[in-house]
Amino acid sequence: MPIEVEIVTPRRQLFAGEVEMITLPGADGQMGVLHNHAPLLTILSIGEIVLHLLDGGQDYIAVSGGVVEVRPNKVIVLAQSAERADEIDIERAQAALQRAQESIRNRDTEERRPVELALERSRMRLKVAEKRRRQRTPGSASE
Ligand code: ATP
Repeated sequence: MPIEVEIVTPRRQLFAGEVEMITLPGADGQMGVLHNHAPLLTILSIGEIVLHLLDGGQDYIAVSGGVVEVRPNKVIVLAQSAERADEIDIERAQAALQRAQESIRNRDTEERRPVELALERSRMRLKVAEKRRRQRTPGSASE
């Protein structure tokens, strides 16, 4: 049975539709949600959302924090920021990674947290962007 999913950011609605399963980076690690999941509310960490589509394909989404509400038949993701794999600007993520790597060296331990998060976001975006080739089901038109 499919489950309805809505993914929004402060800027836009990224996805709305039915999927077989969604996996997302919850407070306790990567979790999978199917139809009829027990209701729950959790925070999202920096990581990857995978939409297991009804046609058998998968969509990969980079997400950088937020909250998710699971209802028996619907998952609502309110993301701080989120990009589909094919929307990720690789050069921008590489530049962000480099900036963060350089600036972390000059910081005291207690000032490192924001830079560590920027590092995590850029690494995760690069990882998800790598998956764009696998995003479409075999046989469908490539971009
Ligand atoms: P940067 O330092 O490159 O701005 P960031 O991690 O500080 O990266 P965020 O604050 O997480 O960026 O996001 C700001 C906006 O830019 C969001 O709308 C996000 O979706 C978008 N964004 C950030 N990095 C990328 C990227 N590499 N490709 C596409 N969109 C991105």
